[in-house]
Amino acid sequence: MKWNVWGHSLEETEAFLAEGGFPRFRAKQLHDYLYKRYIYDFSQMTQFPAAMRSWLEEHAQMNRPEVIRRQRSGDGDTTKLLLRLSDGSLIETVCMHHDYGNSICVSTQVGCAMGCIFCASTRHGMKRNLLPGEMLAQIYAFRELYDIPVHSIVLMGSGEPLQNYDNVLAFLRLCHNPDCLNLSYRSMTLSTCGIVPAIYRLADEGLPITLAISLHAPNDEIRNRILPASRRYPIGTLIDAARQYFRVTGRRVTFEYILIDGINAGTEHAEELCRLVGNMACHFNLIPINGTEHIQLYPPSRQQTDRFCKILEKHGKSVTVRRQMGDEIQAACGQLKRRYLDDSSK
Ligand code: SF4
Repeated sequence: MKWNVWGHSLEETEAFLAEGGFPRFRAKQLHDYLYKRYIYDFSQMTQFPAAMRSWLEEHAQMNRPEVIRRQRSGDGDTTKLLLRLSDGSLIETVCMHHDYGNSICVSTQVGCAMGCIFCASTRHGMKRNLLPGEMLAQIYAFRELYDIPVHSIVLMGSGEPLQNYDNVLAFLRLCHNPDCLNLSYRSMTLSTCGIVPAIYRLADEGLPITLAISLHAPNDEIRNRILPASRRYPIGTLIDAARQYFRVTGRRVTFEYILIDGINAGTEHAEELCRLVGNMACHFNLIPINGTEHIQLYPPSRQQTDRFCKILEKHGKSVTVRRQMGDEIQAACGQLKRRYLDDSSK
């Protein structure tokens, strides 16, 4: 079977080319073609001798996902792509245009096993982990289609990144590599439901990436309702892991908190949340839920959201309320894929 040249570290590419007897510097040139010049046809890689081009044709392939649907919000700030992978699986990726630059939201698995009650990606469980190249291709899809620079990446698409640990770490290292995207680790955010042992492992990697933990509740009882997979890791152990992440990396942890009316958005929940985290250095990102036709969950009123926010601030917490982007293009996780599948079955 031919080797897919897309999405490997320089060392892996060097090892592959060594099989054909080609020197190491050719690997760097190949990466330059792929990741800097967007040339994917071996016959157009004219820096290579003819013998090397025909060896590549014979032994290598270029297997990259295909963009099958794109949607852009009315204000142009959010663009979403639906990609088909080589095995036919569908994944989504989103580009958000902020004042400070473009941020790409990357999926890490096909589907998701976590079961969050507000999320369309988990309806059919988790099908498989994505490979580093399949994650990288999500970013390159935007770069090629719109010729835009990428300033940051957030691992908040479908999937639980820490359940696909090795591939996700290989992907982040690829993004950081100067021969690829040359992104700083500080501009990468990994969002997790809270796989506690993997948070300790990530802390020990020594990479200053931002950790965002989907907390969504001030206690186990509410959290288990919203995020059933959290039963394995009691909330106290998760907060301990977050403290350790800060101690080791020096990076303040962000707690994501989806506000759902009647479930976790009361003032008593805000007070309990402050007691839970105590004096740890952290940031809260409050997200009024983005309702869809598939779930019967609603955001609190604006006044209620303000009250929740003020309680956190009164206790000295850093807080932002996330602007809802891309509502009209089904930008929440899994919704475009669901719409596509609904359309295809008609
Ligand atoms: S919100 Fe994220 S972790 Fe939860 S089910 Fe959806 S994709 Fe999985």
